[in-house]
Amino acid sequence: MSLNSPIEWTDATWNPVRGCAKISPGCKHCYAERFAERFRGVKGHPYEQGFDLRLVPEKLTEPFSWRSPKLVFVNSMSDLFQEGVPDSYVEAVSRVMATANWHTYQVLTKRSQRLRDLLGGKLQFAAEQENIWWGVSVEDRKYGLPRVEHLRQSPAKVRFLSIEPMLEDLGEIDLAGIAWVIVGGESGPGARPMKREWVISIRNQCQMQNVPFFFKQWGGVRKIRNGRLLGRRTYDEYPKIAAAPVPERADCMRHAADFLESFEIGAQPALVQLTA
Ligand code: SF4
Repeated sequence: MSLNSPIEWTDATWNPVRGCAKISPGCKHCYAERFAERFRGVKGHPYEQGFDLRLVPEKLTEPFSWRSPKLVFVNSMSDLFQEGVPDSYVEAVSRVMATANWHTYQVLTKRSQRLRDLLGGKLQFAAEQENIWWGVSVEDRKYGLPRVEHLRQSPAKVRFLSIEPMLEDLGEIDLAGIAWVIVGGESGPGARPMKREWVISIRNQCQMQNVPFFFKQWGGVRKIRNGRLLGRRTYDEYPKIAAAPVPERADCMRHAADFLESFEIGAQPALVQLTA
C-alpha cells in the first residue's frame, strides 16, 4: 500500500495487480501507464515490466497490516476486472476486502460487464459489503454511459461514478442507485479540456437527486494552478462510511492467517507485519 495518496478522494492505494491495457478514450493519457513505463527494464523496480499485466500476490495481505481505518483505492495502477486477471484472483482480492473490513475500499473499473457478472455470481458476498464501494469510469456518452447501466444492474450495495477525465457534456444521467459521483478534468501533457457548464450540470443533477458530489480538479497542463474550486468553494462530499471497528491485534493476525491458509493461487502472499 501507499499511504498519503495524492489522489484527492482517497487515503491510500493498494495494488495487488499491476499493469493494464487501454480500452476506451479515457485511457488515452493513462497516468498509470506513463508512470509504469518510466521504469521498464529497471532491475528490481516494482515496474521493471513496465505496464504489462502482472499479478502481485505478495501484496494481497497488506490491508490486514494496517490497524488504522483507511479509504483505500484498489488498483490505482491497474484495472481489477481486466481480461487476464483470473476470477480466482479477483475473488482473493475481494475476500481480503470483505475480511479486513475496518477499511473502506474504492474499486474502480472500465470493465463494467465483468464487474456486473462477477458481483452477481461468485462475488456476491463482496457486493453485499457496505465497506466496499464499486465504481465505473465515465469519460463520455458512448463508452461511459453504458457502464452506468451495467453498474446499476449489479447487486453492489454501494455504487459510484468517477467522471474523469470528463471529455464531453453527459446530458441527463439517471443517478438512481448511485451513492457517489466524482468529477475531474484530465491533467498532464496533452490534457483535453473540460468545460465549466459540463461540471455544473453534473453537480446540479447530484444536488437534485441527493447524491454526494466530489469535485476533484479542473486539471489541464497546470493542474495545481487550476485548482479545484467550483464557484467559490470546493465540493468534498462522500457516501456514509460504514467500516467495522478495528479488531484487536491478535484478531488481525488471525484473519490474515486464515486468509493465507485458504489461498490457492500458487504464489504465496507475504506474511503480515502489523503497523500501529
Ligand atoms: S483502464 Fe485505467 S489503468 Fe487501464 S489503461 Fe485505461 S486508464 Fe489506464
